[in-house]
Amino acid sequence: MEYAQLLLDIEELNHLFRESVSLSTLLDRTTHLVGAHFKADVCSIYIFDDETEVLTLAATRGLNPHGVGVVKLRVGEGLVGTALQELRCICENDGSRDPRYKFFPGINEERFEAFLAAPITRGIARIGVLVLQREKSTPFAEADTAAVKIVASQLANIIENAKFLMAVHAPHEEKKPPSEVHEMRIVKGQGASSGFVWGNAVVVNKEQALALLFKKDFDKSYTLTDFDKAIKATEQQLEELQGKVEEKLSDVASLIFAAHLVILKDKAFIGEMRKLIEMGGNPPEAVLKIARKYMELFAASSQPYVREKVHDIADLVLRLVRNLVSGRHEAWAYRDRIVVVQNLFPSDLLAMASEGVKGVVMVGGGVTSHVAILSQSLGIPFVIVTASELMGLPEGSTILVDASQGNVYINPHQDAIARFEASRRTDELLAEEAVAMQPQTTTRDGCRVKLMANINLLNDARQASTLGAEGIGLYRTEFPFLIRTAFPTEEEQYAVYRKLIAIMPDKPVSLRTLDIGGDKILSYYPDAKEGNPMLGLRSIRFCLENVEVFKQQLRAMLRAAAGADVGIMFPMISSLDEFTAAKAVVLECVDQLAAEKVEHNSSPRIGMMVEIPSVLGIIDELAAEADFFSLGTNDFIQYMLAVDRTNERVSKFYLPSHPSVLRAIKKVVDAGTAAGIEVAICGDMAHEQRYVPFLLGAGFRTFSVGPAYLTRVQKAILSTDLPEAQLLAAEMLAQPRTADVEAVLSRHLARMA
Ligand code: PEP
Ligand code: MG
Repeated sequence: MEYAQLLLDIEELNHLFRESVSLSTLLDRTTHLVGAHFKADVCSIYIFDDETEVLTLAATRGLNPHGVGVVKLRVGEGLVGTALQELRCICENDGSRDPRYKFFPGINEERFEAFLAAPITRGIARIGVLVLQREKSTPFAEADTAAVKIVASQLANIIENAKFLMAVHAPHEEKKPPSEVHEMRIVKGQGASSGFVWGNAVVVNKEQALALLFKKDFDKSYTLTDFDKAIKATEQQLEELQGKVEEKLSDVASLIFAAHLVILKDKAFIGEMRKLIEMGGNPPEAVLKIARKYMELFAASSQPYVREKVHDIADLVLRLVRNLVSGRHEAWAYRDRIVVVQNLFPSDLLAMASEGVKGVVMVGGGVTSHVAILSQSLGIPFVIVTASELMGLPEGSTILVDASQGNVYINPHQDAIARFEASRRTDELLAEEAVAMQPQTTTRDGCRVKLMANINLLNDARQASTLGAEGIGLYRTEFPFLIRTAFPTEEEQYAVYRKLIAIMPDKPVSLRTLDIGGDKILSYYPDAKEGNPMLGLRSIRFCLENVEVFKQQLRAMLRAAAGADVGIMFPMISSLDEFTAAKAVVLECVDQLAAEKVEHNSSPRIGMMVEIPSVLGIIDELAAEADFFSLGTNDFIQYMLAVDRTNERVSKFYLPSHPSVLRAIKKVVDAGTAAGIEVAICGDMAHEQRYVPFLLGAGFRTFSVGPAYLTRVQKAILSTDLPEAQLLAAEMLAQPRTADVEAVLSRHLARMA
């Protein structure tokens, strides 16, 4: 049989997980699917229990199903136990003759002498064993062994999840009184960052919370003193929050809570409440009455930035009333909680982070959306799901967010949590083993590759510098813009860029000009109500239309770049005209600064992001004009394949290995290389280890990835042999279908495993 046909494709794996209603069907389906792929008479899955060190038959196609849960082997016992002990595949054509063979009466395996067992592992964690059996007349071949290894690794995540669940449904459950038993449920989503957390959920639906508050009858009367105390408490909390966020995130923190504080200190606003209380009103009712008046007033404004203030009042009022009725400094709503939320702005996420949120489950949205990218910088486990029923989760439900796998566990059992904790320890061990980055990155055969970092917040740059990144390949300057409540001034921007450059002294830094629009919406910018913002006045289009905003940013960049190796790059360039127009503004700013005798960098490198497919037709001309290219695969794939990168429902159409995407990528590298300019890759495709050999083979010599990915991408590059990668790239580029590309790639990865 064709080797490629033995490998499961991604679609099949997704189906396995999505369409299995219970654990047993999931495992049964897995054995059927894998058995059929290998044309095996028997396919069984054994699951390993770390505590008892015993392997138990968990599912089988072909053996007597009564053996499930009954057949057990210790590590090293039988062929199955040996495969796990020695962490290698065991292939025997006369299974029962092997001295290690262990006979189990009644499971009907006598006929199936040809035996192939593959350990299922993840990192150093042992998960179980996958076993295939056939009649002696059709023994397994070498290709089967190679294929079963990779199938076992493809299944590792699914089986590991199943393992958690099995632990949950294990005997402990019977001991619990029925009232305490909550059914555990898994909601499959997409992980936008890594790590896992568990804790109490809080569903954040501000509109609803406020509506409830407005309807509420306060059964207790409060005094003016209670009101004053609540104001004081609220003020202290906000100041403390602001201080914390500034300490941690000096670039974007500015004035996040300022709007709240300003309202709180507003004499008229607070004065009107006080007046009502003095006239005998109950303080919480007085607060709500005045708040409502202001909210209605602001909501009616024609100015979007005024309308925006409604959210600030809502936040403030919720906090104030909470402090008032609880009569003490109430624990902040997000601290140590996992927030389930529908619409989330980057500023909300930042506020939540500063209040100590543990994790976030966002209903709707995509993993490359900016709020998701921000979660990586903040180190908050973040999963995006489509299941809107999660918004109805009862207050205080326990949930576990596994951002690495994109799973949300509702009511996880203690055992499941314990297993996650154990796997965290494994990951920590692996991380320690991974040691720091080597100072230089080369392929296995010695070809030099530059490994740089993508930075969203200054904090990322510190991490990247500690790890030893060779510079900054992409600084997304929009973050300070997105999170502030007004456009940062030239001075404010200058201060941030200066700090960034100082973190990476003597290393190249690429500053990308403002990339707003699409999913990166500035709340204070006049709302253009675009029907299709991804195709709207985004990015460089916005800057060229608002040239004063653009100039302020460029001046800040040029000033900060004095004496440093800085590249300025424009996002979303779609034509030569746009590139030249943008470059002309930079040169104009250089002239202006020179005339003003302000210290600056008069000859920064000027490059562009390759993100819009229209540049393919003029790529040689652009390569002649630009000092460097940086391929932004997130947008490039979105526009090439017409798939909204923020829409989880179409994520299966978002295919980095689509032949047209790969061929277009090749065209870009070739054009840049022929023109002698640097061609970097900075989209998420660059941090997916499996694509690293292709990208090297296609010609990339500069990678820019988030700090969290630096070590693993370096490892992937170090282990790649360039001539082999070039052959791989050529073979992948010759395939006309995604499935064929993936098969070629999987074969290569299996060979390398
Ligand atoms: C990209 O599009 O790949 C990219 C790096 O830019 P962003 O993700 O900020 O749009
Ligand atoms: Mg982009």
